[in-house]
Amino acid sequence: MSFLKTVDPDIWELIQKERDRQEYQLEMIASENLAHEAIMEAEGSYLMNKYAEGYPEARYYGGCTYVDEVEKLAIERVKMLFGAEHANVQPHSGTQANMAVYFAVLNPGDTILSMNLSHGGHLSHGAAVNFSGKLYKIVHYGVSRETETIDYEEVRRLALEHRPKLIVAGASAYPRTIDFEAFYQIAQEVGAFLMVDMAHIAGLVAAGIHPSPLPYADFVTSTTHKTLRGPRGGFILCKEKFAKIIDKTVFPGIQGGPHMNVIAAKAVCFKQALEPEFKSYQQQVVKNAKTIAEVFKAEGFRIVTGGTDNHLILVDVSVNGLTGAEAEKLLEEAGITVNKNAIPFDPRPPRITSGIRIGTPAITTRGLKEKEVEEVAHYMCAVLKNPDKKGLRKEIRQKIREICERFPFYKR
Ligand code: PLP
Repeated sequence: MSFLKTVDPDIWELIQKERDRQEYQLEMIASENLAHEAIMEAEGSYLMNKYAEGYPEARYYGGCTYVDEVEKLAIERVKMLFGAEHANVQPHSGTQANMAVYFAVLNPGDTILSMNLSHGGHLSHGAAVNFSGKLYKIVHYGVSRETETIDYEEVRRLALEHRPKLIVAGASAYPRTIDFEAFYQIAQEVGAFLMVDMAHIAGLVAAGIHPSPLPYADFVTSTTHKTLRGPRGGFILCKEKFAKIIDKTVFPGIQGGPHMNVIAAKAVCFKQALEPEFKSYQQQVVKNAKTIAEVFKAEGFRIVTGGTDNHLILVDVSVNGLTGAEAEKLLEEAGITVNKNAIPFDPRPPRITSGIRIGTPAITTRGLKEKEVEEVAHYMCAVLKNPDKKGLRKEIRQKIREICERFPFYKR
């Protein structure tokens, strides 16, 4: 950091401020986490200087002796972690991992059956504003109005009607276990490829807490920076028979040089995820999420689906007279970061919404357990129930800061 302070004090200063924000506020955005310094060290290393187009032992550049070893380690570790036949660790992001699968098996105009963004899906699963929505014919399934969970009968009905070439399972805001076997049966029945985007739940899958999609999916895509707690990035797992087409589609298909520094950071992340503590961490992530859901319910809030099986909770704040945007702002004032989120069948537009999404990966990383999480959840409810009490938010902000100081992370 000292070099940066001298060369560019403006950026240095902003980085210090962001570190303090992360240290003294509670990060409860479900898609975020706090990566270990070892991961940050790998990402900020000399490897960032190296071009390595191609794959280990088959590069278009010289000088790849060491980065080849790095990439091989990342591949071996992620294969072991998830029991995969083949892995590509080069995608720069989750979206690029998805793009690679689409480009590998689809032609423009082909049909994809995927989850509606407004019911918890992701932009890259065919939203109209995304490349996926522009290039392909998209048919969306959603959740049932009664249970707010995926209606597999409806998925099957849509699959039989539209005969998609690819079915996508996986979501950004779905608090329940996904039945990958059910998706597999449907894909088999209509002769579609099955891609599972496990970005949100990858850490839970790695720890054996959420059923693995590996036995069922032709392709599994993921990010590395959510529950998996690594650097920002993506990867693809697939059966050996698709190895060549996936590799060719990532490079030279949609990317140039891989970010070898990020691949090294991914390798460190996979190593950490293979350690026994990772399992207890993920178990605590789920326990903490269930605790939050129970407190919110006891305080009279409506939880989408009535609870959670994973690391996130969707709260319908409209019942309490708030919009998601207002709730996000109120909580931020109290030192807690969440994001506004559409709830199924939300009458409000995406920038307003009726809900908030709360996640436990980052607070669990810093060591909060049920006792503290219960306290935090009560503070959150107090903030949301008293939007007119600015003083209360200030008081709670101080209490949150004290919790953060008791559970330091980067300043430990
Ligand atoms: N897939 C899912 C299910 C996600 O939730 C996300 C990100 O939130 C992505 C893919 C995209 O990841 P990235 O932001 O790295 O492109």
